[in-house]
Amino acid sequence: MAETYQALQSSPRTSPTEILEVNGLKMYFPIRKGFLRRVIGHIRAVDGISFAIRTGETLSLVGESGCGKTTTGRCILRAYDPTAGEILYRRHDGQVVDLAQLDRAALRPYRREIRMIFQDPYSSLNPRMNVLDIVGESLRVNEGLRGRELEERVAQLLRQCGLRPEYMRRYPHAFSGGERQRIGIARALALNPRLVVCDEGVSALDVSVRAQILNLLQDLQEQFNLTYLFIAHDLSVVEYISDRVAVMYVGRLVELAATEELYLNPKHPYTEALLSSVPKPDPRLSSRGQGIVLEGEVADPSRPPSGCYFHPRCRYAQALCSQETPPLRDIGNGHYVACHFAEQLNLRGVPGERR
Ligand code: SF4
Repeated sequence: MAETYQALQSSPRTSPTEILEVNGLKMYFPIRKGFLRRVIGHIRAVDGISFAIRTGETLSLVGESGCGKTTTGRCILRAYDPTAGEILYRRHDGQVVDLAQLDRAALRPYRREIRMIFQDPYSSLNPRMNVLDIVGESLRVNEGLRGRELEERVAQLLRQCGLRPEYMRRYPHAFSGGERQRIGIARALALNPRLVVCDEGVSALDVSVRAQILNLLQDLQEQFNLTYLFIAHDLSVVEYISDRVAVMYVGRLVELAATEELYLNPKHPYTEALLSSVPKPDPRLSSRGQGIVLEGEVADPSRPPSGCYFHPRCRYAQALCSQETPPLRDIGNGHYVACHFAEQLNLRGVPGERR
């Protein structure tokens, strides 16, 4: 299907410096019950979030399991059809296309430009395919490369990702976790993407290997002017790689700021609690006794609380918090926060020497 006028336009809202803008994105999954599978409710995995990613930056999306960060990434990749909202993608030629409106055929060219690196380097690689087939598959399908030409391109990708091309006929089981993740990165880069969604890309790796993969991602970003949406639950990892960090809680964005600003000067109580649990490199600087233990359970996304979703667990909550939803608002210097009392609260960040 040809892209519709509404899907493709020069949007006055997106800035030329932004490669992607998400507006009011919602992803609700139906809950069905009974013989007739009637819909009796919805899980609000993503509940109306808006943010933009600048070209060449790394924006990290952080939050506990089930907060909607992976679902957000999958909506951007259109692995899911969003319930509502816009996903405005700025093409090479400056035109802006709303990915949320496109059907499968119209999405095809954008699937080359927006790729994903998966969390688990063990399950994301087909054990029956060798490295040449894994990395070369998309080149064969999309660019028709075969034989020597394909091998040379795969060899180049492997070298760029710190792997030896001689091993391209080996199968995934012959590689360590870090090497498998490098294979996954080579596969993601095969079609020269512009935007890479890295879904917990280093979470399954040992700490030492994790640092190597993060360094590789940074090198590749510089080399190919890549933009990353980095999804993680661990604030200690995202600090190293991110230009900006967005914090999610039960399907909503609660805070977004430049990395240093967010770590030093958090304005949302949930961010403060997440920061208090970041491990300190020096045991003498341990925050033992100072870590914030959140009371209660994460809210049920099928029956979220009224007002601020965080209010049942927030130690600063007041009456207004259960009555009105705090909007995500700019409090200056590109620092966005969804808390009624952001300016009044004196929250604890993590100074640089303690990280
Ligand atoms: Fe806490 Fe109220 Fe702010 Fe929500 S709006 S984070 S409940 S103080």
